[in-house]
Amino acid sequence: MTSVATPETGFRSARRIGAIGVSEILKIGAVAARLKREGRPVIVLGAGEPDFDTPDHIKAAAEKAIRAGQTKYTTLDGTAELKAAISGKFLRENGLAYAADEITVGAGAKQVIHNAFMATLNPGDEVILAAPYWTSYADMVQIAEGVPVNVVCREENGFRLDAADLERAITPRTRWLLLNSPSNPTGSAYSQAQLQPILEVLKRHPHVWLIADDIYEHLIYDGLPFVTAAQIEPGLKNRTLTVNGVSKAYAMTGWRVGYAGGPKELIGAMAVVQSQSTTNPSSVSQAAAVEALTGPQDLLAERCAAFQRRRDLVVDALNAIDGVTCRRPEGAFYTFASCAGLIGRRTPEGTLIDSDSAFCRYLLEQHDVAVVPGSCFGLAPYFRISYAASEASLEEATGRIAKACEKLACKVLS
Ligand code: PMP
Repeated sequence: MTSVATPETGFRSARRIGAIGVSEILKIGAVAARLKREGRPVIVLGAGEPDFDTPDHIKAAAEKAIRAGQTKYTTLDGTAELKAAISGKFLRENGLAYAADEITVGAGAKQVIHNAFMATLNPGDEVILAAPYWTSYADMVQIAEGVPVNVVCREENGFRLDAADLERAITPRTRWLLLNSPSNPTGSAYSQAQLQPILEVLKRHPHVWLIADDIYEHLIYDGLPFVTAAQIEPGLKNRTLTVNGVSKAYAMTGWRVGYAGGPKELIGAMAVVQSQSTTNPSSVSQAAAVEALTGPQDLLAERCAAFQRRRDLVVDALNAIDGVTCRRPEGAFYTFASCAGLIGRRTPEGTLIDSDSAFCRYLLEQHDVAVVPGSCFGLAPYFRISYAASEASLEEATGRIAKACEKLACKVLS
């Protein structure tokens, strides 16, 4: 890690953020925004949030909380009502029993994961990430002065972690394995049979703890049952942090409520971190989250069905394009398509497509579609599409991608 100084102002950032740049995803977003300002009809398929609105009954609960004066500090890591609602959710949906002191609530699952790293990592401690992974994981590990260790999950293995690869990556410095199912960016999810060999490895290495990031739990398709580690391997529950939140399931990204269940010493240490950073999550948002978790749940299935239709639309359209192949993901709202067949081709202007980044730049600059290169997530040459968008815009966008690929001159073999 290096410390970065700006010569003109003398500003010097801390070593712990030295290696972390502005994310490529934000840069793509900035170019897309500029093109839009210039009047171009850009379709952005980069967002990590549902395009649906927060359900009305949840908004009403927040309004009621404001009127009732729930506008003060709350218990540090979650109100008693919300912890009870979360405990009920874990029991009802995951068969997991967590008491109030085994539950934490933060400003999003992101803060919960950050708290966990800050509370447990010493400089040089290692966290195993299953690549491709949500880019924030590696940055969060580094902010906590840990070392992210990438284990590549090959497409042939459904972008899932191979147990033998995991075992090889474990060292005496390994503190955590982070697993995310269904996954951002691949959409891959683990069945019980696929998860079990990974958990067997963890059982053999008691110093390695597990973060199960279940934020996309409710976006899982074709009737595949959702499973989480602590539920199928109760022996691991005392070293597993089961992370979840209301952002994706209930279209509540802006409310900033995430939560986790885990062993109480860990939960207590995480509360110490949160107590000296943000204190409690918004009181009003917590009231809304109680309603999300205890109110009517029928919207979940409806929205899941809508996402499944969109997945099929995008996957079918991508697989019809020469040079592109796309695995049909089990969940989340992302597809992770290979553009290996396009590498080596040239644009009509003669620019060589030599990487997934070059392909994504070409799509955005020449064909008004913003998608994210796989290299941003630790695996190339791929591109991620977020299909949290209307079917009409997905049809239009995949049509543009097809046209863009047709215009790429055939690979010249040397
Ligand atoms: N985990 C994953 C895999 C995500 O994609 C996201 C959001 N992009 C989060 C966690 C964080 O969600 P939130 O902080 O909104 O709860």
